[in-house]
Amino acid sequence: MSNINNIKAHVLGFPRIGAQRELKFAVEKFWRGEISEGELAQVGQTLRRRHWAWQAEAGLDFVTVGDFAWYDQILNTAALLGALPARFGFDAKRLSLPQYFELARGNTEQFAMEMTKYFDTNYHYLVPEMSSKTTFDGGVEWFFDEIEDALTQGHQVKAVLPGPLTFLWLSKCKEEGYSKLALLPSVVAAYTRVLNKLSALGVSYIQLDEPILALQLPNDWIAAFESTYRSLAGQGSVKVLLATYFDSVAEHAPLLASLPIAGLHIDGVRAPEQLATFATIWPENKVLSLGLIDGRNIWAADLSKVLGILQPWHSKLGAQLWIATSCSLLHVPVDLAQEASLDAELKSWLAFAKQKLAELSILKQALNGQDVSAELEKNQDAQHARRTSKRIHNPAVAARLANLNQQVDQRKSPFATRQADQRARFNLPLLPTTTIGSFPQTKEIRAARAAFKRGEVSAEHYEAAMKAEIALVVQKQDALGIDVPVHGEAERNDMVEYFGEQLAGFAFTQFGWVQSYGSRCVKPPVLFGDVSRPNPMTVAWSSFAQSLTAKPMKGMLTGPVTILQWSFVRDDQPRSLTCDQIALAIRDEVCDLEAAGIGIIQIDEPAFREGLPLKQAYWAHYLAWAGRAFRISASGVANDTQIHTHMCYSEFNDILPAIAAMDADVITIETSRSDMELLEAFSGKTVTGKAGDGFVYPNEIGPGVYDIHSPRVPQVNEMLRLIAKALEVVPAERLWINPDCGLKTRGWPETESALANMLAATQIARRAIERGEQLLIDTAKPGTVVHGSTCVCH
Ligand code: GLN
Ligand code: ZN
Repeated sequence: MSNINNIKAHVLGFPRIGAQRELKFAVEKFWRGEISEGELAQVGQTLRRRHWAWQAEAGLDFVTVGDFAWYDQILNTAALLGALPARFGFDAKRLSLPQYFELARGNTEQFAMEMTKYFDTNYHYLVPEMSSKTTFDGGVEWFFDEIEDALTQGHQVKAVLPGPLTFLWLSKCKEEGYSKLALLPSVVAAYTRVLNKLSALGVSYIQLDEPILALQLPNDWIAAFESTYRSLAGQGSVKVLLATYFDSVAEHAPLLASLPIAGLHIDGVRAPEQLATFATIWPENKVLSLGLIDGRNIWAADLSKVLGILQPWHSKLGAQLWIATSCSLLHVPVDLAQEASLDAELKSWLAFAKQKLAELSILKQALNGQDVSAELEKNQDAQHARRTSKRIHNPAVAARLANLNQQVDQRKSPFATRQADQRARFNLPLLPTTTIGSFPQTKEIRAARAAFKRGEVSAEHYEAAMKAEIALVVQKQDALGIDVPVHGEAERNDMVEYFGEQLAGFAFTQFGWVQSYGSRCVKPPVLFGDVSRPNPMTVAWSSFAQSLTAKPMKGMLTGPVTILQWSFVRDDQPRSLTCDQIALAIRDEVCDLEAAGIGIIQIDEPAFREGLPLKQAYWAHYLAWAGRAFRISASGVANDTQIHTHMCYSEFNDILPAIAAMDADVITIETSRSDMELLEAFSGKTVTGKAGDGFVYPNEIGPGVYDIHSPRVPQVNEMLRLIAKALEVVPAERLWINPDCGLKTRGWPETESALANMLAATQIARRAIERGEQLLIDTAKPGTVVHGSTCVCH
């Protein structure tokens, strides 16, 4: 307890992209050949140095080094250890920057490394490829160069890397019968060399991120922690801080307390309940880093409340107590100060990465006995204002939620009745054709919207331009012979932002960018208050589109779960409650569309699966409230109004009953990239041993028959082959024909050709079914390979 006035503060990582997305723009220029490698390197160094300087200036005890990457930090780790995908044939020790980008983006011979979501975040990492032959003999020295640079800048350095077990867990090994855990000794040996080198450089701490501890891990992986960290502990003078985050690791507390590590970081924001467990078990001579500043959300912390939590820990641990962000700040935007369009009150409720450094600084000073009463008072005033603000709390929304009728999430009749009523109303042909909603967002459309937003063209002018676009899209679909056309979504910038802008309770930032993958960033809306829908949002566009065709126009909405998932949402009430509020707003829109004569309405839920908690034990709870929210949005309509939903990912097996429980009349899903294999899950044929086994999806299904992620035009035979495969598992009466996802990222020529081929394939299939013939199919599998399990077209 001697050093009680020496609490340490640190962040687990800082966003690398830059407050103005400098890294994105520089990297993209480098790809286009507009700047040299030297110029790119300069931009990277400037950003790293700036972010370290901010950490030092805020009074943090370390700058965190190793969180920078030109594309992705997991790829960087593979490059550091020398474990590159063998198929590229690169020399790991001499990997050049262009080659590094080829691993991430593919080249003429090799497809890119697979990309997938980092735990339950919207950050996508590149999946390292392992085999029994993978070696870890060392690779590029970038990590050490950055550390030396930080040391030269006079900083106290804490290095950070993914922990060896998490690194291996995130890798894939497709070799039959080979467990990647067998590679652990070689991985540990490689980390050992890294740690020794860090010791030689004089680095005092390395943070090894092991978020897999928050999952429900298999026993052999848990057991591996003991030996792994015993090996790493004795390496030179560098001390190991094992970092966990995103959920509780309380079940591993005894194991973690016994490991020969210098310290542990736990997430007190996502899993505050685990603090009680660690309070009783954590040894007083080891560092415990408490993550109490939210690294996943943009709200200013309630500093007095956090201090209240920290006080007893401070008395117990003294200088062994560290305070930190819950996880890396990679998941929040960089700097609130540049937001000119947000009002001062709203800004006082928010903290981006740079502001979170200041919060840590205030906490540290308070615990170390310095006078920060003015800062604390200011913080308390803002917190109080937020708790009581009329901008946040809308009594009408609360009253409506409190008085919901038990049946609010139920359609009037079961599916079979609805199906009969809908057939009578629409009289669609066998294998009805449709698309997922968006048509090409051309340069002209984007330019028109940008000019309108800048106030350069009038609302009338903009509306006329969008109507012309809608008319074009409707006319093209009629010419192609699509049975259920759409209006094309020309008026939408983004499927969440478009609705957020028209709903009460949302705010928008100018620079609130968060890295999604590589150079790509997203700017999620800020959902700060009770949600309601003052006016219809899509009715005028859909009605206009319907007036142009005799076919049933499909209305197009984004679902409540997706709006929730792709926004920064309030932390002062459960997510499920916020989701119900959005659901009611969407329900109002659905009912208004119906009243305006739109008989088919699609409610997109591409982010439904993303909301799944990390621990499977909590899945049922999430699926229950998320499914109910979707049903609330969809259930206000008559039997003969047809509700569609759409999802674009390919892992359905384990949540299929929950998807069926959403009770959409039609679901369109991504299937072409998996060669229709996931459809087996819908037919009860799967043999995975998971929950979908033997479960037959009861309603209508539109499995995507072509991949929209590439400009390649699939041939009639290829689509026919997929249709035939689909018909093996879904009866023709329940099968729809459509692409995998929306077409907004495509150009017109390939869109028209691909849809024409899709219609031609459908005609052939219909004729064969009518005549009771077998479909004649070219059995060669088309050679497209596109990777990643998540659709990133959002
Ligand atoms: N309706 C949306 C579109 O077509 C769906 C997008 C998505 O699923 N990500 O663009
Ligand atoms: Zn999609």
